[in-house]
Amino acid sequence: MVAELISVGTEILLGNIVNTNSAYLAEQCALLGLSLYYQTVVGDNEERLAAVLETALERSDVVILTGGLGPTEDDITKEVAAKLLGLPLEEDPHTRELLEKRMKQYKGNNAQRRITKNNYKQALVPKGALVLDNPNGTAPGLILEKKGKTAVLLPGPPGEMIPLFKDEVFPWLRKKQPEIILSQMVKICGIGESQVAEEIGDLIRAQSNPTIAPYAKTGEVHLRITARGGSEKECRKLIKPVVRELKERFGKNIFATDEKKTLEEAVVDMLRDQKLTLSLAESCTGGAVAARIVNVPGASEVFTHGFVTYSNRAKRKFLGVKKSTLKTCGAVSEKCAREMARGCRFVSKSDISLSVTGLAGPDGGTKECPVGTVFMGCSYNDKIVAQEFHFSGSRARIREQAAAHALALLRDCMMEGITKKDK
Ligand code: ATP
Ligand code: MG
Repeated sequence: MVAELISVGTEILLGNIVNTNSAYLAEQCALLGLSLYYQTVVGDNEERLAAVLETALERSDVVILTGGLGPTEDDITKEVAAKLLGLPLEEDPHTRELLEKRMKQYKGNNAQRRITKNNYKQALVPKGALVLDNPNGTAPGLILEKKGKTAVLLPGPPGEMIPLFKDEVFPWLRKKQPEIILSQMVKICGIGESQVAEEIGDLIRAQSNPTIAPYAKTGEVHLRITARGGSEKECRKLIKPVVRELKERFGKNIFATDEKKTLEEAVVDMLRDQKLTLSLAESCTGGAVAARIVNVPGASEVFTHGFVTYSNRAKRKFLGVKKSTLKTCGAVSEKCAREMARGCRFVSKSDISLSVTGLAGPDGGTKECPVGTVFMGCSYNDKIVAQEFHFSGSRARIREQAAAHALALLRDCMMEGITKKDK
């Protein structure tokens, strides 16, 4: 089945708000195994909305529209869709009852408030529509069907749209699909998106069932493998060899095959499994690596210390970085990263220590050390491993990338096997 998305709203068109609805719905369509070829944004304009919807209904089986279901004059989605499909609007007593109940609740907060004629507009539904009660707002969701085509109308606010989609539309669409859809995630770290894409280019080109869809996240690449089949067992059978092939190609760079597992969870799990303790010495990330580690419940079992040594003085005082290192190589240097990691491990007595020092910008870059240069050190067993990175983007992006790569580096080092420190 082919699906299509239309986001209605001048504020989305002009960039005043970000179109998070379509990002959410596109992912949901993939989960449902629907093919998605087009997404459109259109302003609150009757003529243009009608034209866009007409085109969409011609080329797709299911068109999902969000926005423009409110009570005001510029909310026209329902009217336009009903007119186009030739369905007259009539009052739905059940929706009217819910509307009145909700308006009374609102009125409780504001005695002046009256139910206006406009409000009652929301109780009108196209004849024969499937009405989806909206527990978070006054406009119900609507499913309109005509001549084998379907238009799904959902309110714009994500807090209303997402629950309606999850609880009503998703199961409804799933029933429409004769086949079962099953997907499996493979999460990769330590390799860039373009390299991943290159290494699976052949698989992507040859794909039909299952499909492989890559998603890039900061410092991670996620591959979603989606299969369709007559049963769950059949889908699993289709997915299995693809996952095996990916494991062959990406090996230890795969940190999870579970959708929900985060990189920091993978790191904390490894530490816990190996009964190891971790400490961190951060400069440019300012505690961002530690923050990700403590996101994981139970991190206290493995995480002992987190130093934010932002100034040279702090690096010297708490981590024992040499004055001469800071003078000759500077704080953003491999030597400093190594000394930070060593000092951190010495002070904390943990089994593995990681340091991050870099230049997040926007100012201060030089030819030798441009903005985005980050050094990391990892001290474990009887050695210190150092790595140099060059990130790009804003200050926030550089820090975010550094934190993600720090977690990947930790994982990498732990893969080697770590002997517990003699305390
Ligand atoms: P309302 O009853 O609130 O008017 P509505 O169904 O008429 O709801 P709109 O008026 O189009 O929806 O949008 C209301 C608000 O919902 C927007 O101001 C915006 O905050 C949010 N919203 C609408 N569309 C989107 C979208 N595509 N992505 C994210 N947020 C959206
Ligand atoms: Mg509105």
